[in-house]
Amino acid sequence: MSELLDSEIKFLPGVGPKRAELLGAEADIHTFRDLIYYFPYRYIDKTRIYKVRELDTDMQYVQVKGKILRFTAEGVGKGRRLTADFCDETGIVKLVWFKGHKWVLNSYKPGKEYIIFGKPTIFSGAFNIVHPEIEEAGKRETGVSSALEAQYNTSEKMKSHFLHSKAIRKLMSKAFSMPGLRFTETLPSSVTEPMKLMSLSDALFRIHFPDTNNDIDNARFRLKFEELFYIQLNLLRYKNNRTKSTHGFLFPVVGERLNSFYANNLPFELTGAQKRVVREIRADLGSGRQMNRLLQGDVGSGKTMVALMSMLIAADNGFQSCLMAPTEVLAIQHFNSISKFVKGIDAKVALLTGSTKKSERTRLEQGLLDGSIDILIGTHALIEENVQYKNLGLVIIDEQHRFGVAQRAKLWQKSDYPPHVLVMTATPIPRTLAMTLYGDLDVSVIDEMPPGRKPVKTMTFTDAEREKVFGFMRRQIEDGRQIYVVYPLIKESESLSYKDLEDGLESIARAFPPPQYCISVVHGRMSPKDKEISMNLFRRGQAHIMVATTVIEVGVDVPNASVMVIESAERFGLSQLHQLRGRVGRGADQSYCILMTSHKLSADAAERVNTMIATTDGFEIAEADLRMRGPGDLEGTQQSGMAFDLKISDLGKDGQILNLARSRATEILSDDPELSNPANRILKVNLKRLFGKKYSWSEIS
Ligand code: ADP
Ligand code: MG
Repeated sequence: MSELLDSEIKFLPGVGPKRAELLGAEADIHTFRDLIYYFPYRYIDKTRIYKVRELDTDMQYVQVKGKILRFTAEGVGKGRRLTADFCDETGIVKLVWFKGHKWVLNSYKPGKEYIIFGKPTIFSGAFNIVHPEIEEAGKRETGVSSALEAQYNTSEKMKSHFLHSKAIRKLMSKAFSMPGLRFTETLPSSVTEPMKLMSLSDALFRIHFPDTNNDIDNARFRLKFEELFYIQLNLLRYKNNRTKSTHGFLFPVVGERLNSFYANNLPFELTGAQKRVVREIRADLGSGRQMNRLLQGDVGSGKTMVALMSMLIAADNGFQSCLMAPTEVLAIQHFNSISKFVKGIDAKVALLTGSTKKSERTRLEQGLLDGSIDILIGTHALIEENVQYKNLGLVIIDEQHRFGVAQRAKLWQKSDYPPHVLVMTATPIPRTLAMTLYGDLDVSVIDEMPPGRKPVKTMTFTDAEREKVFGFMRRQIEDGRQIYVVYPLIKESESLSYKDLEDGLESIARAFPPPQYCISVVHGRMSPKDKEISMNLFRRGQAHIMVATTVIEVGVDVPNASVMVIESAERFGLSQLHQLRGRVGRGADQSYCILMTSHKLSADAAERVNTMIATTDGFEIAEADLRMRGPGDLEGTQQSGMAFDLKISDLGKDGQILNLARSRATEILSDDPELSNPANRILKVNLKRLFGKKYSWSEIS
């Protein structure tokens, strides 16, 4: 790699320490390379100059050539602004500045010819352009330039220090003019040639300085392909390596515990999908290789039963297993239901969470070490360094995306061999995302709901219709049903969500007074013990209504609850809404999901609400979510904690490129699994550069 690329950005002429600090803090640009990988979000055709007469408010961005007639100071106080009448031979457009008046007056002179850039808006019947970019006509930017001009996102803070899009473009132009700048190709010719990919150096130049739309397409394709290709190569290499190794605990028998559970304890017939998945898991466990499997299944599809049966297989073969839940509430819930399921079976189940008392914990640790505990259920506490097992053979991770490749690798350190791993998720992940987040896993899907479930009916009401909703709730309660009312958990402010809940609770308490009605409350500020008491009240059917923040999002299972009221539904993301809705519709009765929204909704919020009304299919919802928000915002990716910082690809749109990248990576690894062919050295070098730090490469090779 070129040394210049890795030099600090402050050494670029025009940057200096102060701007360097700003670039680093605001845009994560620390080196020349970071700058060059700071890609534009769109392009403007700078070959086209509009006449004032042609302006239209539909236009995103225009350039007009003309002269400033005069400056005027307008308004007072906060409305104070500087304006300029700017004209060409067809009319006048008003330029407006709210800040930097002195600088504007010093820099631009009436009578001189300028080209201005900006978005035209209508104000008081005239076209305005607020804070336009201005250039002297005939004196276009020096240095590197192109017909299509790149536009860069910059933060408010950057803009207020004159680091706006244009300034970034200038820096880019300076960087590309540095004589020492070299890009070492990162893909072998066996990849670039058959696909006619642009070279890396062309692509990097053209993404910033394209002359045609074709340039943009080709540059983007090359860069996206490379990005996705290396992620896939990394995952597949990891997967191959594991599949090849024979190191894995062998669970050859189905024994007393599973058989007796199946014959005596199973309270219902397994669905076809559950049976198939249990078979897939048994095949893995009996293969002598380590299982690494993702189990996808919509909320309520019965993943817990699959988990339990897998753990009984482990116990039958003399191994311990653990089931890890993301929250304490859910861990307790699993512990209770699993303890009930295995009554009379020779399998000892224990619970370990962050709030397990010291003395109890010491006892648990003893039981784990001497092997008397077969199944341990808990939170993250399960995999802490100091928790030692006698022979941990199976790890199950529930409702959980935080587990990247690296974290999974950490589990291996708990035993001589890596334990088998089953990751269960109820958030149906779009295929592209699954391939990227979990590309190294085998996938099982439960695509069938237990019988007798009716799809939940979803409706939306505004705050003004609350009385109507209360009436509906009363009738449901009269019919013996129970109801959830959920308030959004506001990440930035726990106290704000708490206040929302308090206010709402007040009006609900007024509408549903005791002794006729009983309300239980669960929120993040309660102690786990109080939470548990409240949940039990609802679980046992003593409370008619449970008012909660999203703590109930995962894992509450009360089949008699038939109504889910979601307050401020516009504040929830699609996958959250889907998760919440999944809490009802678990019994045989018709269930309802009521989305309470404010009167006016943003376009995005309206689309989310409409999607929820239109479908109950989790995969469809996940795809819509990905399309609308992009993967950066998808739950799961944010917390995935893995090498997942896509600079240019968009998993919502680039599924096809992802497929190409994955199949090319598969081909290469099948020809040269160790990447030992000299022509593939370049792949090894770049894998190490990209992923070397995330987990030890040497461990794998
Ligand atoms: P999830 O996949 O969301 O974790 P659970 O495992 O919590 O779903 O199952 C949801 C509910 O369905 C539970 O009450 C569970 O006991 C029940 N259940 C699971 N499998 C079946 C089945 N095959 N038939 C009937 N009910 C089932
Ligand atoms: Mg579950």
